[in-house]
Amino acid sequence: MAHGMPTQGKVTISVDEYSSNPTQAFTHYNINQSRFQPPHVHMVDPISYDTPKPGGHTRFVCVSDTHSRTDGIQMPYGDVLLHTGDFTELGLPSEVKKFNDWLGSLPYEFKVVIAGNHELTFDKDFMTELVKQDYYRFPSVSKLKPEDFDNVQSLLTNCVYLQDSDVTVKGFRIYGTPWTPWFNGWGFNLPRGQSLLDKWNLIPEGVDILMTHGPPLGFRDWVPKELQRVGCVELLNTVQRRVRPKLHVFGGIHEGYGIMTDGYTTFINASTCTVSFQPTNPPIVFDLPNPTSS
Ligand code: 5GP
Ligand code: MN
Ligand code: MN
Repeated sequence: MAHGMPTQGKVTISVDEYSSNPTQAFTHYNINQSRFQPPHVHMVDPISYDTPKPGGHTRFVCVSDTHSRTDGIQMPYGDVLLHTGDFTELGLPSEVKKFNDWLGSLPYEFKVVIAGNHELTFDKDFMTELVKQDYYRFPSVSKLKPEDFDNVQSLLTNCVYLQDSDVTVKGFRIYGTPWTPWFNGWGFNLPRGQSLLDKWNLIPEGVDILMTHGPPLGFRDWVPKELQRVGCVELLNTVQRRVRPKLHVFGGIHEGYGIMTDGYTTFINASTCTVSFQPTNPPIVFDLPNPTSS
């Protein structure tokens, strides 16, 4: 059953029948349900950095996929920085330290960060498997001793690091999770279908801002070189049918940099690096009205 089923007021998401083929899922749901069509679904222009922040709003600055190339990035004014993973190339402690130093140099009141598939050392199960192998796909990571990376998370002293967890800043409940559909066996990779859905099912209702590393199906998830959509179908169903955040920020597919809406949730692919790993896509700024305390 593909649809969210309300049970006692709570919606349960099941594995979609097109889960394993997102390109086909997109075509099917577009033709049969107009699911990705205007007027609800459309592109959104980014606001310029000198736009005054409206009263009673919080300004979020979104970046992703900086891949240890932060030196030349011009950072705009804002209140809260959101980074949706791939801040390194391999998750080496030296890279994490450099990233943390960069965070420390930025003036935002809060900085919230998740890992991506490149943060290998943050994925404990991945590292356990890697050290078991007798030939290594990632020689410079394999050379690390466990004591070098066991506490790699603790190197991130200048931000809130989320991993299947949430934080409330300035009244906004923000949830972050690093998992992406399996692709070439990197960190935080899981098979499409139930394995990923089990992670999305950990996202509580009432989240205002969702941070994932990869896109949901149909929103900034197109890989031109393969003529494929690679967004997660279960993530889309979770976002649209159960969690319904005001903002979903991600990266992962560098070519998908940009903003879209479905009429309720704004989707931001904030990939800073291009597909050739040049850090030239500007940070994306987004204003949200402050939650009214009730
Ligand atoms: P990264 O290695 O930084 O995770 O991803 C870099 C690029 O690899 C992306 O911009 C995209 O071109 C490609 N890529 C990443 N994940 C996937 C995926 O799941 N499927 C496909 N086809 N390409 C991907
Ligand atoms: Mn990346
Ligand atoms: Mn990635």
